[in-house]
Amino acid sequence: MTTITRFAPSPTGRLHVGNIRTALHNWMLARSTGGRFLLRIDDTDAERSREEYVDAIRADLAWLGLEPDGEERQSARLEKYEDAFAALKKAGRVYPCYETAQELELKRKIQLGRGMPPIYDRGSLRLTAEERAAKEAQGIAPHWRFQLDHGETIAWQDGVRGAQKFDPAQLSDPVIRRADGSWLYMLPSAVDDIDMGVTNVLRGEDHVSNTAVQIQMFTALYAAGFGAAKDAAKAHPDFAHEALLVGREGKLSKRLGSLGCDAFRERDIEPEAVIALLARLGTSQPVEPIANVQVLIDSFDLSTFGRAPAKFDDTELDRINAAIVHQLEFAEVSGRLPEGMDEAGWHAVRPNLSHLGEAAQWWQLVTGPIDPVDLAVEDRAYLAAAAEALVWGDDPWHALTGALKEQTGRKGKALFLPLRQALTGMNHGPDMGELLPLIGEERARQRLERAAAK
Ligand code: GLU
Repeated sequence: MTTITRFAPSPTGRLHVGNIRTALHNWMLARSTGGRFLLRIDDTDAERSREEYVDAIRADLAWLGLEPDGEERQSARLEKYEDAFAALKKAGRVYPCYETAQELELKRKIQLGRGMPPIYDRGSLRLTAEERAAKEAQGIAPHWRFQLDHGETIAWQDGVRGAQKFDPAQLSDPVIRRADGSWLYMLPSAVDDIDMGVTNVLRGEDHVSNTAVQIQMFTALYAAGFGAAKDAAKAHPDFAHEALLVGREGKLSKRLGSLGCDAFRERDIEPEAVIALLARLGTSQPVEPIANVQVLIDSFDLSTFGRAPAKFDDTELDRINAAIVHQLEFAEVSGRLPEGMDEAGWHAVRPNLSHLGEAAQWWQLVTGPIDPVDLAVEDRAYLAAAAEALVWGDDPWHALTGALKEQTGRKGKALFLPLRQALTGMNHGPDMGELLPLIGEERARQRLERAAAK
């Protein structure tokens, strides 16, 4: 059976680092098993869903390299939900409810005040036909709940959390449809998972109790004749719920909720760094700067996912980013490099970068102009000698320093630093052996002479 996973964001905002992690793991699960990864846009909430967010979600996934194998939209599938609803209604698994939001809130408060869990009391389920008719006659449009089967304990083997068990009587019958006919998340998602043949649902642990409800929905839908269970023994997808992502301080931070691809791009973070960090964060596998995503895919293993919250740390992202940048090949970055920088230039500056954008400031050392460093008198004489000793060949830096060493007896810092200062205007920087050929003979001689004369 082909693995089919899905990433199902609601287009009510931008993707944040938590969603990105879920998308990534679903993509990896599909890629590691030769399966398919679907993007499902959960846009049944017409009021809050925006087309610009749909576009942004697609663009973010593309930037990250998480291309879906197919895209579905819930707003284009309303008939399906209507059919499923009709089937469940016929089977007596949905019922109309007439409480107002205020009434429900009051009930909740009373239950909580008595120290009871705020479970819906099924007040509307107990209404007689006459009472219902009276409500309708008053013009009260009902909302609809799915009736959980209290006789059937809900259990599943979770891919991350292990054996899970829920007593349905401890859950509220979920509202699946609003009085205006629009759908809440719960039923469309189960319908789509059946219809799209989703084999694995991997999502955040905030969905665990939704899974309990949806497992009964899967069973009820199949029993009502909606969707043929391909394998009767496996009437629902495999579920796995990953621990939530928290900030460094260990709290569910607001900042993480708004940290997304735009912020990463602004900070000049490579998508490969985001992927390398999020792929293994919260697992027992070491987070390493792995730029080759296939290596991450090959080592993807749900059984290594921990149950403790995964801590997202910006400094770790920066560290991984630098290490990733050091591995990038010229062909991968050439379009983002400063004008004129060739492969040799890239290789010269690459080890000095924490972020790719810094290539420009190092390249400036080659192209100039550079700001001269103030030098000691004896160093000026030394640099005058250097300008004369400069001969151009395959490896001008080693030729120059070799000659000067012999001629002046200088070594170590005294030998190298004034040359670096005169040639680049800096006390540190890329390897001079690589940089000097890029600076070129004429510019190099001018810089040495200028420093000597100052
Ligand atoms: N639209 C839901 C969400 O963003 C999807 C959850 C799921 O994966 O089923 O939370």
